[in-house]
Amino acid sequence: MTRASDDGELVVYDDRGNIGIAAAMDMHWQIRKDSPSGVTYLVGQLSKKVLSRCIYSRSCRLCFEHQKKIQAGKINAEEEVTTHDCKMNYLPSSSSKGMEANAALEICSKLPETSCYLAKLVIDDDTATLSKLREELPTWMKRPVKYADRNHRVRGFGHQVYGLANATAKVSRTTKSHAARLKRNFAYYIGEMINGQHELQEIVRRRYAIVKHMFNEHDDCTTGCPAVQAKAQNKNYSPKKQPLRRDHHCDIYEELCRIVDTYITEQRITEIMHSYSTQLSEALNQSTCSRAPKGIHYSSSTSLHDRVNTMIGIHNDGFERFFSRSLGNPTIHRRSCVLEIPPATRYEERNQMMVQPKRISEAEKKNKW
Ligand SMILES: [Zn+2]
Ligand SMILES: [Zn+2]
Repeated sequence: MTRASDDGELVVYDDRGNIGIAAAMDMHWQIRKDSPSGVTYLVGQLSKKVLSRCIYSRSCRLCFEHQKKIQAGKINAEEEVTTHDCKMNYLPSSSSKGMEANAALEICSKLPETSCYLAKLVIDDDTATLSKLREELPTWMKRPVKYADRNHRVRGFGHQVYGLANATAKVSRTTKSHAARLKRNFAYYIGEMINGQHELQEIVRRRYAIVKHMFNEHDDCTTGCPAVQAKAQNKNYSPKKQPLRRDHHCDIYEELCRIVDTYITEQRITEIMHSYSTQLSEALNQSTCSRAPKGIHYSSSTSLHDRVNTMIGIHNDGFERFFSRSLGNPTIHRRSCVLEIPPATRYEERNQMMVQPKRISEAEKKNKW
């Protein structure tokens, strides 16, 4: 219920009576560059459960084997591949980067079948997905409102500052240590300002505190700043690290302020003034990684689908409930036999199997040598 305060409305409806939901969306690629497959999860922000998922694959093993046979001259070129559940649902020639926007469109278009629509979309700062939804969703469907993820915003800011730090000394004198401090200051500043429910105008007005803090100027700093805390307690404050100086480092001050200007504007702060996050989506991505490791290619068969579906089942229902239900189903039982043993048992067994190194006492050492 706390999230009702985010935009004042708890339940919203569209013209057809579908309920508007708030959900986070994030894509996970099996390989970093030019991935053969990608998985997107739609995670509800109130239920914290996976509401929908989309798996794109650029290959199908049966189709591939068929092509190989034709090339080897084992069968005629006219012969068609046997009817099968083809896993290739994304063109191999298309870029894997485009999967994210396509998956978002597919998920959103299917939502009205379950009497809901996506009212609030929590997403990273990727513009392609939102513009695709705006342009290609059916005209009668309401467009989702963007809620940017705060962690992604901090990461984007860090990327910009580290870009300066990695540039040559002629371009910028900013170092990696400055970049790390600035990124941390940025995260603290927006976190404290937004959680402290400060006015939007005030957040924008005091934005240079992020840079000034490194120059030992704390007039705009938030209450989390150790200098502000020391002042409140009438104590002296001496910074742990050598502060920068305005006269010696004016070029660094100006270039850092320019980056802060682009990241702290009224519009950009409005986008992150909420309590939603894509953290759960990222946790799911990590789970996908453990069940479908990046070094192995599972997407050309049903294997990736089974692994992802099993993971969603465990996440939504809990381990015991999911497996007590699915044990009657021989297909799921066979494919997920690795997961059949509860994790605790597996952990204990593993510990028993491990030979504990024996500690040799000082007395024994003396006897030995
Ligand atoms: Zn196929
Ligand atoms: Zn400060």
